[in-house]
Amino acid sequence: MLAFECTKCGTCCYGKGGISVRRDEIERIAEFLGIESSSFISRFCDEKYGRFSIKSGEDGYCVFFDKERQCTIHPVNPTPCSSWPFYNALLKDPDNLDAAKDACPGINPDCSFEDFVRQAKEEGY
Ligand code: SF4
Ligand code: SF4
Repeated sequence: MLAFECTKCGTCCYGKGGISVRRDEIERIAEFLGIESSSFISRFCDEKYGRFSIKSGEDGYCVFFDKERQCTIHPVNPTPCSSWPFYNALLKDPDNLDAAKDACPGINPDCSFEDFVRQAKEEGY
């Protein structure tokens, strides 16, 4: 049984401060956009305690979310985006997986914890 297939609903791209981005990811995304890392940080990042996260726009969505195209930096998006939903917290605790099923329509509500872990392994997590 397929445990996860993104429906591209955009729910996980909504909200403030949730998407942390590392320095190496900042450099990679800035290169993808053809701008300097410093410019990327000042235009698109919030900083708290020396850590960066991607800003959200006035509509509450991540600044890189487009309703037609979804993630406009998809090939280089940060780890929290590219690895969802195969997070350690969900791979170690069935209760966390159940909670995530309510939040993400891409997670098959009928999948078992074992199905989910199996797909994660198959995808290299
Ligand atoms: S970087 Fe892309 S996938 Fe991640 S929250 Fe922003 S639009 Fe969504
Ligand atoms: S909430 Fe789930 S299904 Fe919707 S875009 Fe995010 S990963 Fe895909």
